[in-house]
Amino acid sequence: MSFYDYLQQVNWDECRLSIRSKSKTDVECALSRQRLTLNDFQALISPAAEPYLEQMAQRSMQLTRQRFGNTLQMYIPLYLSNLCSNICTYCGFSIHNKIRRTTLTLPQLNAEIAAVKKMGFDHVLLVSGESEHRVGIDYFRKIIKQVKSQFAHLSMEVQPLDQHEYEELIDLGLDAVLVYQETYNPVTYAAHHLKGKKQDFRYRLETADRLGKAGIHKIGIGALIGLDDWRTDSYHVAMHLDYLQRTYWQTKYSISFPRLRPCAGEFQPKSIMTDRQLLQLICAYRLFNPDVELSLSTRESAHFRNNVLPLGITSLSAGSSTQPGGYTDDRKLALKQFEISDDRPPEQMEEIIKQKGLEVVWKDWDRSLNASF
Ligand code: SF4
Repeated sequence: MSFYDYLQQVNWDECRLSIRSKSKTDVECALSRQRLTLNDFQALISPAAEPYLEQMAQRSMQLTRQRFGNTLQMYIPLYLSNLCSNICTYCGFSIHNKIRRTTLTLPQLNAEIAAVKKMGFDHVLLVSGESEHRVGIDYFRKIIKQVKSQFAHLSMEVQPLDQHEYEELIDLGLDAVLVYQETYNPVTYAAHHLKGKKQDFRYRLETADRLGKAGIHKIGIGALIGLDDWRTDSYHVAMHLDYLQRTYWQTKYSISFPRLRPCAGEFQPKSIMTDRQLLQLICAYRLFNPDVELSLSTRESAHFRNNVLPLGITSLSAGSSTQPGGYTDDRKLALKQFEISDDRPPEQMEEIIKQKGLEVVWKDWDRSLNASF
C-alpha cells in the first residue's frame, strides 16, 4: 500500500465540491477544536473561511511559537545543473527551451559552496533539472560527501530516485529530500508533463514512500499552485502529509506552497491565488498540523514575506539564485529556472527577521544535536 493506492479511493471532483460547500458553521467548528481533522482542514481553506483570516492568523502564530520558539531557519538553494530531459509546460529548464545548459564541475561547485558559506548559510538545498545520465546518481555520489563536509544540513530537490539510491545518499550525508507532486490531479498532471520520466505520475507520487522506507530524516512535499484548483491540490497535500506521518512516523515533514512565477516559455497559470488566500492556506496548514515545517521561498515578494513570516513560517530562503553558478558568476545569462521576486541579501533579511522579534537559525539544530549525542 502506497499513497498512490490510497489516492485511488479519492475522487478529485468530490473533494473540490466538498471544499466549496463548507459553511461558516463548519469553519467555526474547525476553529473550536484542538486537534483538526482533514474535514476541518477543508473548511479552513474554503471560501467560507476567508472572513476568519485574522482569527486563523493569530492562532497560527501562537501554535508556531509554541512548537518552534521564536526562531526562523534560513536556507539557500544551490543550483547544480539546468540540464533536463523532460518537458514541463511551466518550467524554464524544459528541454525544448533554448537556454544555455550547464552543469557545475567540482571546482565550480566548490566556488559556489565558498560563496554561499560566506553569506552565512549552514543549510543548503541542492537543486537540479532531471537529466538521469548527466545529473543522476553517479553525479550525486561524487558531490554529496564534499557538500556535506561544508554544511550542517543538506537537502536535495532533484529527480526522484529509487529506494536503494536514497539509502546510499543518506549514508553519504543526505538529510532531506523535497519532492513536489506539482498537481495531484492525474489528468492535469498529464497535460503539463509532456515528455520524459516525469510523465510517470505514480513513480513521482510514490517518491515520498520510497524516502520513508529508506529512513530519510525529512521529506518536503507540496503542490505547484496555479496548475489546477489550489484548494483541491492543497487538500491533497494535507492528505499526503497525514498518510506519511501515520506510515513513516520517524520522519519529519515540511510543506512548501510555490506559486507559479514567470519563466522562459509562454505558460500562464490556470488559477490565480491571491496573497490573502496564500496566508489562509499557510494558517490552515499550521492549525491542521502544529509540527509540520512550513517553508517560504524568494518566489514571493518582499512585502508579502515581511508580513507573513511571523504567522506560521518556520524556514525561509534568502539571497537566492535559480541558475547554476549564480553565486559566483553575476553575468545575466539565460540559465534561470524562474525569476525570483524577493532579491534582498541574507543580512538584510536577518535584520528584518530580528525586527519581528525572531531569531535567525542558520542550521538545523535538531539534526545537529542528534548527531552530537
Ligand atoms: S520542472 Fe523539473 S523536470 Fe520539469 S522541466 Fe523543470 S527542471 Fe525539468
